[in-house]
Amino acid sequence: MNRFSYTRASAVPQAIDQHRSNATAAFIAGGTNLVDLLREDVTHPAVLVDINRLPLRQIETTESGSLKIGALVTNSAVAYDRAVAARYPLLAKAILAGASAQIRNVATVGGNLLQRTRCHYFYDAGTPCNKREPGTGCPALEGVNRIHAILGASDQCIAVHPSDMCVALAALDASVHLAGKDGTRTLPFADFHRLPGDTPNIDSNLRDDELITAIELPKQGFVTHHAYVKVRDRASYAFALVSAAVGVELDGDTIVNAHCALGGVAHKPWRDTVAEDGLRGKRLDAATMRDFAAMLLRGAHGYRDNAFKIELAARVVARAFELATQRSIEETAP
Ligand code: SF4
Repeated sequence: MNRFSYTRASAVPQAIDQHRSNATAAFIAGGTNLVDLLREDVTHPAVLVDINRLPLRQIETTESGSLKIGALVTNSAVAYDRAVAARYPLLAKAILAGASAQIRNVATVGGNLLQRTRCHYFYDAGTPCNKREPGTGCPALEGVNRIHAILGASDQCIAVHPSDMCVALAALDASVHLAGKDGTRTLPFADFHRLPGDTPNIDSNLRDDELITAIELPKQGFVTHHAYVKVRDRASYAFALVSAAVGVELDGDTIVNAHCALGGVAHKPWRDTVAEDGLRGKRLDAATMRDFAAMLLRGAHGYRDNAFKIELAARVVARAFELATQRSIEETAP
């Protein structure tokens, strides 16, 4: 039996205070992941703080021209919002590639950032798992690891972040607005999630007293040239084996600027701005894509069941660039 008390907040400071009342308290909004975690005996909050009444459901253009999306806006509301569809179609496509319509109708932006890995061992309370119970071990290292990480993993955890939306947010250089007991702060999206290291039980750099209040998208939305490619084991309602969110600015056939984030390969959406910088001034062709993939995937490591992801990631990236630019990347004779 997993007993907890339930309370509702109607203002952000009140929610933060209620959350601070107990070290194991958890915020609940859509509950599309948290309820699973409760049912599977993965997490045991003594207090659930319902934040659905907080005024965090707006999508608004800021004075600087960026778009700010409240943390309680549902995934569906984001995907079908006119401003998002017109200015950030990459984000809409990534959201609609994830979950089911029913889940997207209740899952929230903040919850999407905080959803936990789908590692089978993590959800099986009868097995050890460093993420669920630090220090118990990682059976995925030698076990069933088809869905696991090829980049940024550690000998403590090889789990991946499951979100599609977050892959697009990483590619779009979003930022995350947070509120805590000492005030507010904003984190670049790249700094929000963590790699596992020695503390895989900590997924993000959100502090214990903090609440996500919004995400913000900069002006550049890659409206003309963008793509989200997701490869999964079945056609719907499945997490990515590998996905890629790509946005490109072109001058003719020459790349002026390119962003590329990978999903399904690491503990966080994977971006490499050094590799992206190497694309500037290049013509989009097979050689460019081969060099980019080699740079992006340097250090990639496959385990028993998932080494195929390394080649798959290179192909998904090339396909995403093809779709984004509506150009065929063909092998040319040396
Ligand atoms: Fe747990 Fe991470 Fe290992 Fe999965 S990969 S069993 S989540 S420690």
